[in-house]
Amino acid sequence: MAPESRPVSLWLALPEAAGYPHLEGEVEVDVAVIGGGIAGLTAALALKRRGLTVAVVEGARIATGVTGNTPAR
Ligand SMILES: Cc1cc2nc3c(=O)[nH]c(=O)nc-3n(C[C@H](O)[C@H](O)[C@H](O)COP(=O)(O)OP(=O)(O)OC[C@H]3O[C@@H](n4cnc5c(N)ncnc54)[C@H](O)[C@@H]3O)c2cc1C
Repeated sequence: MAPESRPVSLWLALPEAAGYPHLEGEVEVDVAVIGGGIAGLTAALALKRRGLTVAVVEGARIATGVTGNTPAR
C-alpha cells in the first residue's frame, strides 16, 4: 500500500494536545522516563500512582512513535 493511501490512526489525526511544555532548564524528579510512547506513559502513570514524582521526556510528540500507528486492539 502506498504511504499516502495508508489509514491514519485517530490519535495521529487529532491535533496535538496542549499542555506539554518544552523542557526548559533542569527539573528534579524521582524518575525521568525517556520516551512518551505507551511503554513510557504506562510506566510514568504506575510510578506516579505510587507517589513518585515523574517527568516524561519525549523527543518528538507524545504517542506518535510506534504507539501512534497501532489501532490499540
Ligand atoms: C500497525 C501496528 C499495529 C499494532 N497493533 C498492536 C496491537 O494490536 N496490540 C499490541 O499490543 N501492540 C500492537 N502494536 C505494537 C505496539 O503498538 C508497540 O509495541 C508499542 O506501541 C511500542 O510502544 P513503545 O512505547 O515501546 O514505543 P514508541 O511508541 O515508539 O515510543 C517510544 C517514544 O520514545 C521517543 N524517544 C526515543 N528515543 C528518545 C530519546 N532519546 N529522547 C526522547 N524521546 C525518545 C520516541 O519519539 C517515541 O515517541 C502495533 C504496532 C503497529 C505499528
